[in-house]
Amino acid sequence: MIKNTLSYARELDKQDPLKQFRSEFHFPQHQGSNCIYLCGNSLGLQPKGVGPALQRELEQWQTFGVEGHFKGELPWMYYHKFLQEQSAHIVGAKTEEVVVMNTLTTNLHLLMVSFYRPTKERYKIIMEAGAFPSDQYAMESQVKFHGFHPDDAIIEISPRAGEEVLRTEDIIKTILENKDSLALVMFAGVNYYTGQFFDLSAITQAGHEAGAKIGFDLAHAAGNLPLQLHDWGVDFAVWCSYKYLNSGPGGPSGLFIHERHGENPDLPRFAGWWGHHEEERFQMKKGFIPMKGAAGWQLSNAQIFAMAPHKASLDLFVKAGMERLRKKSTLLTNYLIQLIDEINENSFRFNIITPREEKDRGAQLSILTGKEGPALFEYLTENGVIADWREPNVIRVAPVPMYNSFEDVYKFARLLENYSE
Ligand SMILES: *Cc1c(COP(=O)(O)O)cnc(C)c1O
Repeated sequence: MIKNTLSYARELDKQDPLKQFRSEFHFPQHQGSNCIYLCGNSLGLQPKGVGPALQRELEQWQTFGVEGHFKGELPWMYYHKFLQEQSAHIVGAKTEEVVVMNTLTTNLHLLMVSFYRPTKERYKIIMEAGAFPSDQYAMESQVKFHGFHPDDAIIEISPRAGEEVLRTEDIIKTILENKDSLALVMFAGVNYYTGQFFDLSAITQAGHEAGAKIGFDLAHAAGNLPLQLHDWGVDFAVWCSYKYLNSGPGGPSGLFIHERHGENPDLPRFAGWWGHHEEERFQMKKGFIPMKGAAGWQLSNAQIFAMAPHKASLDLFVKAGMERLRKKSTLLTNYLIQLIDEINENSFRFNIITPREEKDRGAQLSILTGKEGPALFEYLTENGVIADWREPNVIRVAPVPMYNSFEDVYKFARLLENYSE
């Protein structure tokens, strides 16, 4: 079978054990057929179960009014519990170590309250250079809030000259060099721009050796690749649900707090009634007693209309399983690399800046184009591709295993090849 053909791509789709999940999603249309949607790293597609899930909550409200907190299929009072097991599966945690609440940047700040407690000697934060802006702003404002100066307190690790991505050895070296002044290592799981997946286990180990706390922003990692937050011993992590987790724009955030912290009621935090000891919550008494685990960081009652879509999507992830998704994801992205390599053999046009090694990336490839980049992107769009453009000239594409097909990847590569200036 010739690999570089549509029929070969279709054959791969036929053999795909997860192929039926594609039909669980709504696809934007282009000239009467599905778009080639490669933007799941930015906003995942809508699962068909979302509409009915929202409808069910509307009916719950219509039928029960306030009593919906205790009645019906999914009583609102306990709603966060209906998301915990699935979230734990996605990030490799114990059920009690995760909870869904608020939004990502909000949770990042809330967890900094507990895990960034700088002293005069130990106040520095290490992060990757070129982190997602919200993380940069969060770190800057946190160090300022504590009376430090970002230029002094924030250490950014950059790739070596002439390189696009970070080397784990450089990350570890920087962590250990700063062991006397380091308070926190705050890294992305997968960098949003390059698509590099960092060695979270090695970073955690080095950070702890340096006496620091370790937090990860998993916005581009959760639902993209299997994680082992508990076993790695990570202190805390946050993620959003609207990228790989397909839970809709502004969808709620998940967070992880390792059980060694979750079981410590004395760990400082900003408290609200939903984090209070469950059996006594409605006694409305003075004196905050946190629930055990990540649930003890909740502030407010659950945002049902954001969480219902999240649940619909999370249930699909559990059905598909992160290991199986990763397996397909690797095949899909390897296939794309292979096709781009073949195009480059004739004339080199598409520089993949994402690491080529499977273990160093998820679904996403970041393709550095030449000066024709904007016109190429427009051409792709006109031909039904939905991808993502980042200045100055990077196209980000993520064939996601939940709903993308090998045929999507093949057609995208053919468009790349056929584009001429
Ligand atoms: C997408 C993303 C965010 C977005 O933050 P919100 O609070 O959900 O708006 C933050 N950090 C990273 C690394 C992201 O990729």
